[in-house]
Amino acid sequence: MKFNENLAQLVNYEAGKPIELVVREFGIEPKDVIKLASNENPFGTSERVVNAIKDVAKNAFLYPDDSYFELKNSLASKFNIGAKNIIIGSGSDQVIEFCIHAKANEKNAVLMAGVTFAMYEIYTKHVGAKVYRTKAQEHDLTEFLEIYKANKDEIAIIFLCLPNNPLGGCLDADEVYKFLNEISKETLVVFDCAYNEFAEFKDKKKWIDPAKIVNEFKNAIYLGTFSKAYGLGGMRVGYGIADENIIAELGKIRSPFNITTLSLKAAIEALKDEEFVTKSLENNFKEMTRYEEFAREFDIEFIPSYTNFITFKFKEQNASEIVQKMLKKGIILRDLKSYGMNALRITIGQPWQNDRVLKELKEMLK
Ligand SMILES: *Cc1c(COP(=O)(O)O)cnc(C)c1O
Repeated sequence: MKFNENLAQLVNYEAGKPIELVVREFGIEPKDVIKLASNENPFGTSERVVNAIKDVAKNAFLYPDDSYFELKNSLASKFNIGAKNIIIGSGSDQVIEFCIHAKANEKNAVLMAGVTFAMYEIYTKHVGAKVYRTKAQEHDLTEFLEIYKANKDEIAIIFLCLPNNPLGGCLDADEVYKFLNEISKETLVVFDCAYNEFAEFKDKKKWIDPAKIVNEFKNAIYLGTFSKAYGLGGMRVGYGIADENIIAELGKIRSPFNITTLSLKAAIEALKDEEFVTKSLENNFKEMTRYEEFAREFDIEFIPSYTNFITFKFKEQNASEIVQKMLKKGIILRDLKSYGMNALRITIGQPWQNDRVLKELKEMLK
């Protein structure tokens, strides 16, 4: 059977390995598996949210309120924007897909950093658009601008992943706003800010302000998610914030009821539990320093991270082998081989989890 030709050159996105796989393959008890591969919140889901989900479980037969009225209003007041400036996605991943389907096609192109979130390229290829990447792995706005200016009529979307997954680096917001002034109003600039809460906590200058995007940059969209700081990866809720014209176009692509009745409730409730988020952020950066010290001790290269993960780049050792060996010990880390790097990414865990990861890594590397 013939399929869409654009699919021929694509491979499946390699997701972080699930706990179930380690249980099946290595006979390790689920409670002994440490999963630090997908940047989930190591404290799990807040108690308050779990209870709210239980409460609405009996409504699982009902479609959710497709206007997402309450969630949009909560986000609107949090960010000081209007409900009309928001689109809800099944994870912000889905909003990335909306953006690409709305703008990119076989005749144009999408520009992104040398090493960045893999889904940008995958969705771009779905629609047969071309991918431009900077040579620099992290976001080098000078190089972005060079490539953009040389291919201005072709580039329909620019992705800025701030902070950048899977490397962890970030730019100052002011520098990024300046960059935006150089971009044509015909080009959509996507700010994927899945880790914005972390960046803001570490350094206020990194915080990208959704209200500023709505009010000053009519060709940009801000993406946020409940999957990381809010501890709701399994609920699949993300959002886009932009000028209403952009939101209206993306809305044409969104299918009705694209998040679930339970997810909707979970997200609404999660926004009310800032204490949980703060605790997660505090733990994250406190524990991060242990990994940084470890890297210095073992001469491992890393980029100072504004996220809930740290990426170790190796020289002599083989990162894939380390990931594999750790897996056999019940510790799931993320191999970055599919990003063309001899590197691994570790989500910062709870102290007891980091104890074990560091102990095992130490034994492996000494
Ligand atoms: C995790 C992540 C997302 C989206 O996650 P969802 O679970 O789909 O909301 C988007 N971009 C980056 C860079 C991420 O790391």
